[in-house]
Amino acid sequence: MKFIIGNWKMNGNTEQKDVLLKSIKNVQTNNKIVICLPFTLLHGNDFGITIGAQDISEHTNGAYTGDISGQMLKDANIKYVIVGHSERRFYHNETNDIVKAKATTAVAYGITPIICIGETQSERNMGRTMSVVKKMLLESVPDYGEYIIAYEPRWAIGSGTTPSVSEIKAIHETIFKTLRNINRENTPILYGGSVDEENAKTITSVAHVDGLLIGRASLKSDTFLPIIKSID
Ligand code: PEP
Repeated sequence: MKFIIGNWKMNGNTEQKDVLLKSIKNVQTNNKIVICLPFTLLHGNDFGITIGAQDISEHTNGAYTGDISGQMLKDANIKYVIVGHSERRFYHNETNDIVKAKATTAVAYGITPIICIGETQSERNMGRTMSVVKKMLLESVPDYGEYIIAYEPRWAIGSGTTPSVSEIKAIHETIFKTLRNINRENTPILYGGSVDEENAKTITSVAHVDGLLIGRASLKSDTFLPIIKSID
């Protein structure tokens, strides 16, 4: 079983959501499908597909205009939430400390955080990928509870380029070993960044790739269903 997790970012409406969820419902798969939707689309799901959120506040409740609490996500029956996506880290200045606090809050409400880590283009150019990824990992994960890691090189997101298979293999192995050192060797490790129908099967065949986090290609059944089918 692999995780295939869609991230709709700030896209979509109710009609598009219903079309995609209905089409997924008609596909036979042993994989775990989760679609992480914008907050306005989290309520109401007649198709039995698991829905996730894209952010959670690290605070319990109170004067945090625009934020969404763990209690609210729990109330909406949400079981997964993305935390520390590179767009949140970049546009909202989310540090590893904030990401850890958000992941810890999610766990406290019985929601599995999907914790994103990954290097920038300039960190990659300087040969710092492994050290950056390890540091982000160790500083972003909660001290207790179950979680999922998504390795998403920032330069690969939405760019149409991915790391080579040997790079993905080496980085996922490093993430696995780092998790094993903290007794978390059973943590699923996903790859994300320009996944499509052409590369999904190859990437999920790499050791320690337990699934995919998919942005653009998760928006429409034309591009998402072939990915689900290709890795069954
Ligand atoms: C993402 O933003 O999580 C992502 C993987 O995007 P894309 O698949 O579009 O590169």
